[in-house]
Amino acid sequence: MRILVAGCAGFIGYHLTERLLRDGHEVVGIDNLCTGSRENVAQLAAHARFQFCEHDITRPLGVEGPVERVYDLACPASPVDFGPRRLEIMAACSRGVWELAEFARRHGARLLHASTSEVYGDPQEHPQRETYWGHVNPIGPRACYDEGKRFAEALLTSCHACYGTEIRIPRIFNTYGPNMRWDDGRMLPTFIDQALRGAPLTVHGDGSQTRSFCFVSDLVEGLVRLMESDVREPVNLGNPAEITVLTAAQEVLRLTGSRSVIAHVPRPKDDPALRRPDISRAETLLGWRPVVERPDGFARTVEWFQRTMGKPQ
Ligand code: NAD
Repeated sequence: MRILVAGCAGFIGYHLTERLLRDGHEVVGIDNLCTGSRENVAQLAAHARFQFCEHDITRPLGVEGPVERVYDLACPASPVDFGPRRLEIMAACSRGVWELAEFARRHGARLLHASTSEVYGDPQEHPQRETYWGHVNPIGPRACYDEGKRFAEALLTSCHACYGTEIRIPRIFNTYGPNMRWDDGRMLPTFIDQALRGAPLTVHGDGSQTRSFCFVSDLVEGLVRLMESDVREPVNLGNPAEITVLTAAQEVLRLTGSRSVIAHVPRPKDDPALRRPDISRAETLLGWRPVVERPDGFARTVEWFQRTMGKPQ
């Protein structure tokens, strides 16, 4: 198949593109490189069936020829982006998704848009099922992302209702692995960076808030299965194994052999206290569940950070 991946220079987009190329597909990757890495594009460009187009998804897309699948992973996604890039995020989730939906309609392509567990906000239900409507502050510091992604889900649902566009909506929970941005601001890269530099590991609050982490190869498998299924409703993709933030910091210290200390700092506003996916829908409809155990995934991630320390991204 000929497949378009928007956001191919980013963390998940890079791994997804690699997987699609490995499966024998032709991939047109697009990215405006606002948070993506040229190094990721350079690695993909070594592949003959990969074509890169530097492009902003908020503008009309001029890719010619047949395209059967469109994966949209193009959106700044780190908490550090929620301040300086808040309008870019809202544009990617609204105008950007709209342009890709138009493109998919013209090409008769399926469109998968990477949604997020953030649509559940600071959840009052635990674990979160897809039927939960969420608890989101529409004017809070995370609103650009949470509400942007909620709008994108509504937009796709409307495109299906009005035009019959084939849509797929994975709600992705915390994903991690090699090729994450060093300055990503998310918990795991931050802890690894701090541990490797010998700096204190900054744990928000007492660290008793929980997170669940899905290794990126598991997530990519879920995205591909969802795309090739006939499931149009949102599907949670994440790893239900939950750990506290403090435990994650301690595991990073052990894996890196770092002598850094743990420093407790105030928790950011609207930081979710609990976050764990209920993945029964993915298990039932896609036959999917994560297979990479956390110790293995953490070790592979730490190894990548150690190997790329100080290199250009
Ligand atoms: P990332 O920042 O590494 O990748 C995003 C990519 O999109 C970057 O290469 C960036 O340059 C590109 N991009 C951003 N805006 C663009 C635009 N307007 N036009 C073209 N390209 C643009 O982020 P990621 O972690 O790989 O996330 C990918 C997608 O998955 C995002 O939509 C994100 O919301 C979603 N997601 C990620 C996670 C996670 O844990 N990483 C969790 C939930 C949802």
